[in-house]
Amino acid sequence: MNKFEGEELIKFTQRFSTDKACLEYLADIKWKDGFECKKCGHKRYSLRKKQERCCTLCKHIESPTSGTLFHKVKFGIQKAFMIVFEMTATTKGLSSSQVSKRYGVTRKTAWLFMHKVRKGMESSQTLPIEGFVQVDEFVVGGKENNKQGRSYNCKKKKVVCAVELTENEKVKRVYALRIDDFSSQSLKQIFEKHISKKAKVKTDDWKGYRPLLKEYNIVQIPSNKGENFKQLHIIVHQIKSWLRTNFSWVHPGHIDKYLSEYSFRINRSIFKETIFHKLIERMVSNAHIGYKQIIIST
Ligand SMILES: [Zn+2]
Repeated sequence: MNKFEGEELIKFTQRFSTDKACLEYLADIKWKDGFECKKCGHKRYSLRKKQERCCTLCKHIESPTSGTLFHKVKFGIQKAFMIVFEMTATTKGLSSSQVSKRYGVTRKTAWLFMHKVRKGMESSQTLPIEGFVQVDEFVVGGKENNKQGRSYNCKKKKVVCAVELTENEKVKRVYALRIDDFSSQSLKQIFEKHISKKAKVKTDDWKGYRPLLKEYNIVQIPSNKGENFKQLHIIVHQIKSWLRTNFSWVHPGHIDKYLSEYSFRINRSIFKETIFHKLIERMVSNAHIGYKQIIIST
């Protein structure tokens, strides 16, 4: 197939100027290894309207969107493609109220679809960090105060963040997760999901990391008001300000989805040429999720 590459808006709108062009793109991805009927396994089909495939044996009809994260998209596949493109091409993402205004859909519809896009952005957790990584924990939401230490207001949402650095201290990848508290059991989650036991980890001297020293290669050093963790603190600051600017209030049950979106863009910033295509592929291979499943996670 002819993959879409690049971040140019004009190029994008020319390529995906009709619903037909978008559906063909999805069909090429969905059936890249050939068609196989979901009902009977037969491999021959006849082509129907909207790129639907009709099994020549049992007559079962399948659309390019069915069972994917584009399943029954209410407002047309072309708008859906544009929203995905904007969520990948813009550095800071956009809010559901911006999408609602720009695409003439209700805020709820925009919000729901954007959560499906975020589902496609979730890390596959197949490539844990093996090199240099710094880990820290912080709070988001509520009023900032200058209190030091971990005696934070318990109503604030707590996040643990891992930043992989290159040998010359450039940010390579970022992962972040919401946690219930700053205990070692909670902090451990980011290690289990994203950090290899071979990785060289640096944290500040918070006691919550101590029990993890047995299993992971961790060096604890004083934070020195962030001076010893410069890159990490830039990322923490960016995450906080991104959440604050785009989303006035984020339900604790949804925060991981926004963190996935943030990480997805940062972690693919060196592969920007193919970021849109990659995300469409993931949205096709990820199973459809409905409104209730999105809400239930709160
Ligand atoms: Zn069939």
